[in-house]
Amino acid sequence: MTNNTGKKDKRFQATEYGLAFGHFTYLLSDCQEVVVDLQGWVTANGKGLTYLTDPQIHSTKTPRGPSNFGGRGLRYFLEEQHGPECNSICQLLKLPPVLRKPESLRTYRF
Ligand SMILES: [Zn+2]
Repeated sequence: MTNNTGKKDKRFQATEYGLAFGHFTYLLSDCQEVVVDLQGWVTANGKGLTYLTDPQIHSTKTPRGPSNFGGRGLRYFLEEQHGPECNSICQLLKLPPVLRKPESLRTYRF
């Protein structure tokens, strides 16, 4: 659904769930990590379960590596994959905008 660079597959609505999950993980980690590169499938007619697997994490808290692009990975997610506007899933979850400055997120509690 998403990969670990700037690409996303818009053919599947499930991609929106993956991007919203990335948005959530970014906020939950205090803007230091994001879960990307989700693979998965949707059961039957798309109204059932969505299985997600094979995540990668871009983190500024752990050493960079082959799949952890650190801050560059965070920027890829924010600017290319998620973009400045939240999708319908982010909006349903009432996630704060992703491109706010980190300081302003400290008032948001999960
Ligand atoms: Zn969002």
